Amino acid sequence: MFEGVDTVWQDGEFVDFEDATTHVLTHGLHYGTGVFEGVRCYDTANGPAIFRWEEHLQRLYDSAKVYDIEIPFEQAELSEATLELIRREELQSCYIRPIAYYGYGPLGLNPSKSPVETAIAVWPWGAYLGEEALEEGVDVAISSWRKHASSQIPTNAKTTGAYVNSVLANLEATGNGYTEAIVLNKEGNVAEGPGENIFLVRDGEIHTPGLAESILDGITRQSVIDLAEDLGYTVHEGATISRGELYTADELFFSGTAAEVTPIRSVDDNEIGAGTKGPVTDEIQTRFFDVLDEAPEQYDDWFTYV
Ligand code: PMP
Repeated sequence: MFEGVDTVWQDGEFVDFEDATTHVLTHGLHYGTGVFEGVRCYDTANGPAIFRWEEHLQRLYDSAKVYDIEIPFEQAELSEATLELIRREELQSCYIRPIAYYGYGPLGLNPSKSPVETAIAVWPWGAYLGEEALEEGVDVAISSWRKHASSQIPTNAKTTGAYVNSVLANLEATGNGYTEAIVLNKEGNVAEGPGENIFLVRDGEIHTPGLAESILDGITRQSVIDLAEDLGYTVHEGATISRGELYTADELFFSGTAAEVTPIRSVDDNEIGAGTKGPVTDEIQTRFFDVLDEAPEQYDDWFTYV
């Protein structure tokens, strides 16, 4: 995955990949007190560009705020460091992983005496769930693990520690032969995937759970809503979706930085629609990738050029 990656940005310096390390007594390692982002840079017709970079950076700083993590760099400094890193690595397209966490310090729960450490890595990363998944769709299973409620661990913050829930759901699903999981929230309604938001198509209209369902406010999710509305679809943002409604949906798909727009062809071995990518999913996915290829003027503010 990281072959050919030479440099990582760490605490203000560009360091060799092998030297981008941290202490075993790092607070974030023990207690999950870190925040991070997942972002993609695309090779557009106008050159390499980071997709919705400002929104991702804002979410990073918002996530940090929840945990009193004072990132010791301005947003503009992290932005410039990232652009420079992509230039140094000579990447036309890549995945970008900024992270800020409480570092080596006293190991009490209160992290305030630990320094905040910050790093950014970039690497080439293809389709997260596989190229075939984008075309054929994925087989998913409802996880027996519920998503933690936002009253337990804030789900609007992208916190490293919170991802143990996603790891459990993914391990269970993949261990049982599925590609990915869907997690229900505490109330038993559909929340999201372990690293994806979810959309349902019924009678030509699009539904997606709202933020009150304990989900991450996905940036791809918001982009899909905008693209779908611009294509003339009615989008019900804030829908409450039951497990049964998944089984009888006309179409289902995931959205996410890593997963992009991935059709779901079965849930718990129940075929969804015709058991392949549905027409609405196809139209939205096609538009999504066209926009990423062409970076049209209409969506100019979605792109930050390297
Ligand atoms: N939900 C979870 C739990 C995630 O980790 C992600 C990936 N960041 C998403 C949804 C999708 O969010 P985005 O579109 O901003 O990548």
